Amino acid sequence: MEHNSNFIRNIIKDDLASGKRKHVITRFPPEPNGYLHIGHAKSIVINFDLADEFNGKTNLRFDDTNPLKEDSEYVHAIKEDVQWLGYDWDGLFFASDYFQEMYERAVLLIKKGKAYVDDLTQEEIRAYRGTLTEPGKDSPYRGRSIEENLDLFERMKKGEFGNGEKVLRAKIDMNSPNINLRDPVIYRISHATHHNTGDQWCIYPMYSFAHPLEDAIEDVTHSICTTEFEDQRPLYNWIVEECEMESKPQQIEFGRLNITNAVMSKRKLKQLVDEGFVDGWDDPRMPTISGLRRRGYTPEAIRAFVRETGISKGSGVVDSQMLDHFVREDLKLKAPRTMGVVRPLKVVITNYPEGQTEMLEAEINPENPEMGSRQIPFSREIYIEQEDFMEDPPKKYFRLFPGNEVRLKHAYFIKCEDFVKDENGNVVEIHCTYDIETKSGSGFTGRKVKGTLHWVDASQAVPAEFRLYEPLLVSEDPTELEAESTEPEVEKSFLDQVNPNSLQILQGFVEPNMKDASPQDKFQFFRHGYFSVDPKHTTENKLVFNLVVSLKSSFKL
Ligand code: ATP
Ligand code: MG
Repeated sequence: MEHNSNFIRNIIKDDLASGKRKHVITRFPPEPNGYLHIGHAKSIVINFDLADEFNGKTNLRFDDTNPLKEDSEYVHAIKEDVQWLGYDWDGLFFASDYFQEMYERAVLLIKKGKAYVDDLTQEEIRAYRGTLTEPGKDSPYRGRSIEENLDLFERMKKGEFGNGEKVLRAKIDMNSPNINLRDPVIYRISHATHHNTGDQWCIYPMYSFAHPLEDAIEDVTHSICTTEFEDQRPLYNWIVEECEMESKPQQIEFGRLNITNAVMSKRKLKQLVDEGFVDGWDDPRMPTISGLRRRGYTPEAIRAFVRETGISKGSGVVDSQMLDHFVREDLKLKAPRTMGVVRPLKVVITNYPEGQTEMLEAEINPENPEMGSRQIPFSREIYIEQEDFMEDPPKKYFRLFPGNEVRLKHAYFIKCEDFVKDENGNVVEIHCTYDIETKSGSGFTGRKVKGTLHWVDASQAVPAEFRLYEPLLVSEDPTELEAESTEPEVEKSFLDQVNPNSLQILQGFVEPNMKDASPQDKFQFFRHGYFSVDPKHTTENKLVFNLVVSLKSSFKL
């Protein structure tokens, strides 16, 4: 993968230098048929960054030409996501606002003899189209007169025909080696209520006809899309030309972003939502912008990640750990450090005076001293992690076991003297002694210990729920997950990849100074990782933390 290369920037530079363009307008054109995902973030960053670099403009345009799949819920969510990513659009447009103009351009094509109404069914059109090795065959309706076509198209618009009874096709070349030019369908009948235009229209333009017109109407100069549209570029240019659009946008393709363990098609993501595999589009396991936001990823991290993946013609697969790297980088200095115990085990410090509590001082973020310090209570009973005690440890286990001494972060050394089991043989309580000489910050050098544990004072601990995540899909290979097919077994295999252990919910405790944490606040829990307060499940009485990323990473840029 090429890093940071940007051939699109070079095209724009040349266009401005040669005078081909006087200004730059880009657009981000989502179809409002689902929530945005991280692949869309790439398109957003590319379009807005380029316009920014050349003092241009970027429109947010909803490509809403398919009434059956689109909804204003998605329009709202998409706007929110783009803004959250840190971008302000110049123009806000809906393709459906151009339906009248598109209709008129289609009429113009008919008048020029460049479009005709066809009565073939969808299947017949497909059969007549030919293949890569065989030329197409003319429809028997291809020779209709201009007058007849004008009349039929008008009647299509008036609603005289049912869905699929007729289509309008561009009249280009049934022998073209480019199948996209073999008289593509440009209008179809669909008696459906549109989220924006209601029942005003019953004919709708096809994407490949609508998109170039939308770009031209908005005077977009560089229409950036993904490489699956490369073969459509000649059709794009044909439509701009033959519809006599004044403005001549240029389509430029780049490779899609794919990341490991994730599907990136709205259709599949919708399936995960609709079939209840996740708790909505913003489930923290989803690769959607709203899911990443809820999980605790930051716009800064997403933008840095997307920029690092570079722009090239090829579509590589990017390791999701690269995104994790950037969120760690972003939160390192911003997130307060704290302690939380996710699987609590009680420790009684038997030689610590009963009823006494002392306040220990700790820096909020040692890497960012400006964040100041915090107070942590310490008393006779604390919680540690269950995994930080073993009755019978293996070699190189430096945490608590009978007779061993460890350091409690920000506090004292404690030594395990004894432990208590319940009737099932589970260890439920540890008894330790502490050494008052070893207080953190006292400069004690008498002896060393190998383990340092995090802990929370039991008497003041705030109960908290921890939600730990693993990838939602077990297969790393997105091409396998994305495989587009109508064969039912392929669909099945995608859902077969859903990881049954992708969410683990644990009840633990956090430091008392965190009781007022607000949704989306982010913290680094010592020895665990970065967590963010969940906006959906957190209530006045219950703090819920989502694991953003663990601290450890094997990933190197
Ligand atoms: P999906 O298959 O997820 O529905 P789409 O391409 O149909 O994606 P649109 O709403 O049409 O979704 O996309 C808006 C813009 O985002 C388009 O310009 C599209 O090329 C771009 N885009 C979508 N997915 C990716 C991706 N994975 N990487 C880069 N750009 C993407
Ligand atoms: Mg789409």
